[in-house]
Amino acid sequence: MLLPRTLGLRSSRAAVQEEPPLNMAVASPPDLEHLSAQEVLAHMVERFHPRLSVACSFQKEGSVIMDMLLKIEPTARFFTLDTSVLFPETYDVWRQMEKRYGVEIEVYQGPSLARQAALHGDELWNREPDKCCDLRKVKPLTEALADVDAWMSGLRRDQSPARAKTPKLVWDHKNERWKASPLADWTEKDVWRYIAENDVPYNDLHDRGYASIGCTHCTLPGTGREGRWARTGKAECGLH
Ligand code: SF4
Repeated sequence: MLLPRTLGLRSSRAAVQEEPPLNMAVASPPDLEHLSAQEVLAHMVERFHPRLSVACSFQKEGSVIMDMLLKIEPTARFFTLDTSVLFPETYDVWRQMEKRYGVEIEVYQGPSLARQAALHGDELWNREPDKCCDLRKVKPLTEALADVDAWMSGLRRDQSPARAKTPKLVWDHKNERWKASPLADWTEKDVWRYIAENDVPYNDLHDRGYASIGCTHCTLPGTGREGRWARTGKAECGLH
C-alpha cells in the first residue's frame, strides 16, 4: 500500500504541489484543489492505477466519473456495494453502464438478507440502521479496498452540510487508503450538463424526484440528501 508519506504526484499535466515533507504528509496531502475533475482523475490514474478503484452506487455522479475516467484509462476499475435492497432502476442502470462501456463492475456484499434476519432479527434497517449499514456497506467496503491503495467517490460539497468541506484528495484514516472526490466542487447543474453533453446513462429515479439514491427501505424522493433515512437523525451510511 502507498502510505501518505510515499504519495508524490508526478505529472506534467499541471503544476501540483510537491510532496510534503515526511512529517507533514498525513496532515498535508498534495494539493489537488486547483485541478479540474479530469485532471484529478488523470493524476490518480498516473499515481495509483491499477491499485485504484471507484465506488459506484449508480447515481448521476457515478455515471459522470465512469464516462470521464474510461476516456483517460480504459482499464480503470470500479466496484459496487450491492446491499440486495437496491431499486430495480439502480440494477437497470448498472447493466446499462456495463454494456455501454464494456466494463465489469466488481461486486461486494454483506450477509444474505436471510442470514442477517436470523442473526439480528427482521427489518434491521428500521430498528438499527447503523448496524444494517455496517453489515451491508461498511464491512463490504473494507473488502473492496483490500487490494487498492486509493479509491474515488462521487461526493460533492453541495450535497449536504456534512459534505461541505470534502477535499479533492485526502488520506482516509478509517480505511487507511487515499480517497479522491474529483467532483467535489461540482454543482448539480454541472453534473447534468456533463450527462447531457456526453449522452451518459443515468438512474431513472433522478427524473422522479430522487436527488440521492440508496436502498429501497431507506430512500424517499427529495432534494440533496433529504430523502436518505428521512425522518431519522441519520445522514450518512458510514462509508464517508
Ligand atoms: S441504507 Fe438502509 S437498507 Fe441499506 S444498508 Fe443502510 S440501513 Fe440497511
